[in-house]
Amino acid sequence: MSWVFFGIVNVSVVMLVTYQLLSTRFQTQEASFTKAALTGTAMSAKRNCERLEVSLPLKKQNTPMGMNYVMLGDGRWLCLECMESAVMDTYEVQPLHFEIREFFEGLNMKIEKEFHLLLVEKEALKKAEEKEKIDSQHGVVIRGICLSENQIVTSVSERPPMGQNKQPIGLVTESQMVVSECEVTAILVLYGLPRLLTGYILAHEMMHAYLRLNGYTNLNKVLEEGICQVLGHMWLESQTYASTDASKKRECAGFERKLVEFLKNKIETDGSPVYGAGFRKVNHTVASSSLQETLKEIRRWG
Ligand SMILES: [Zn+2]
Repeated sequence: MSWVFFGIVNVSVVMLVTYQLLSTRFQTQEASFTKAALTGTAMSAKRNCERLEVSLPLKKQNTPMGMNYVMLGDGRWLCLECMESAVMDTYEVQPLHFEIREFFEGLNMKIEKEFHLLLVEKEALKKAEEKEKIDSQHGVVIRGICLSENQIVTSVSERPPMGQNKQPIGLVTESQMVVSECEVTAILVLYGLPRLLTGYILAHEMMHAYLRLNGYTNLNKVLEEGICQVLGHMWLESQTYASTDASKKRECAGFERKLVEFLKNKIETDGSPVYGAGFRKVNHTVASSSLQETLKEIRRWG
């Protein structure tokens, strides 16, 4: 039902945040995106990944153009327009889940196994990370994780209803034990992010799942995160064309194209020795051979 809102993004959002873009080629495009997308910049050098460092404090009184923001239950700010375009609960993310499984299948990397994909709050990601015994870093927020352990996860089961002043009231969550007989029990992704960012994180985590399910174990961390970033980047690339869907309003398609370019640029220029260097190394190998050949190489190098 809410799926129809995913592609609808108020173009004013494009002007929101410029501080993150000064060092990128987007400086000239005046492209900037959601608070949620830009809550941080650099990913940490940890496994299971897609972490962002919390950067500038997001104060309501400093918001550009006097726009109104809502605070999500876990303390993140989101502008009202993004609130409508964001993927807010586990139900809403399922079409994207299917889409990304099809994307992998289209690359001859079909993921046969079924596992949960749950949207969760920041705190739930942190807890899951602790249970997976992955070290966390101070000031780092995780955006997605691929779980191998059976554990209880509290997920966002229903987008928060909007109360007075369009502020969300509460959040409907439910706890469940994620269990699986395969190497992946669930993928968790932070709720409330724009569809394109959610999809990129999901593609990245899905690649971790693919590797585990296909016996790629004890891989070099740089190569593993690198290939996962490559898949995230490839999915974004596929959205460049999807975004030109004529059924979308032109300005929305324009916004999405800019967001795709922005996210791709972030991946390509990421200064992290794991995610950034890993992407560049693996992407170079993919470009000079193929994805399948690169996977063979990664197994060999592992
Ligand atoms: Zn990762």
